[in-house]
Amino acid sequence: EAGEGVLRLEGVVAGYGDATVLRGVDLAVPAGTVVALLGANGAGKSTACAVAAGVLRPAAGRVLLDGADVTALPPHRRARDGLYLAPEGRGVFPALTVEENLTLWLPSAADRAQVYRRLPRLAERRAVAAGALSGGEQQILALAPALVRPPRVLIADEPSLGLAPRVVAQVFELFGELRDRGVALLVVEEKASEVLALADTVAFMSLGRITWSGARAEVDQDTLTSAYLGLA
Ligand code: ATP
Repeated sequence: EAGEGVLRLEGVVAGYGDATVLRGVDLAVPAGTVVALLGANGAGKSTACAVAAGVLRPAAGRVLLDGADVTALPPHRRARDGLYLAPEGRGVFPALTVEENLTLWLPSAADRAQVYRRLPRLAERRAVAAGALSGGEQQILALAPALVRPPRVLIADEPSLGLAPRVVAQVFELFGELRDRGVALLVVEEKASEVLALADTVAFMSLGRITWSGARAEVDQDTLTSAYLGLA
């Protein structure tokens, strides 16, 4: 059924003050699936993430997590139910070491050892202040706890922003691992880019509406062009 999904937005209308940004958004992110949400700057992608995470309350519509209506729940309650909004940019504490950052999320040494086995580069730098890592390393550090304790839903808003292509590939590889372990991922990107290689489903947003959505295999150049122009 098309409406199924661990995370679902139904008829979401939302904005800031008098400005309506989302004009009726329906979106489903099933378990073990990567949904790429694409669209031009200002289309409303970040606003959709904010509504999904509970940072912004919609004026109308619902947010469902595992079928339960969480529209009225604050972000920390949704986080407890397994929804993880990857912090934009870095999302680590720069003055704390790699080890200290990980300990905040993974108090068990065995869990941290698992991270270091999977990500040896972090192991080498465990005593280094996170702020001294490259942007890419900080991004990996911010995602590392999810590998050991996978959330039900992971939302990433422009995870490739400012990262070197090699690091983007590594981040997307981690996303692929999480998908294979059953996580529902919503990945927002402005440009189609590398996310198309990762996505199972693609949704285009234009002027606060989903103008096209379908399987990644159905996306061709004509679809891309008309979706970005809002003609689909
Ligand atoms: P971008 O890639 O620029 O983030 P986007 O598709 O994610 O684009 P949004 O960030 O959701 O789009 O922005 C949609 C509209 O909402 C824009 O017109 C933007 O100016 C406006 N907007 C976003 N955040 C706020 C805010 N906190 N207060 C007021 N207006 C906002």
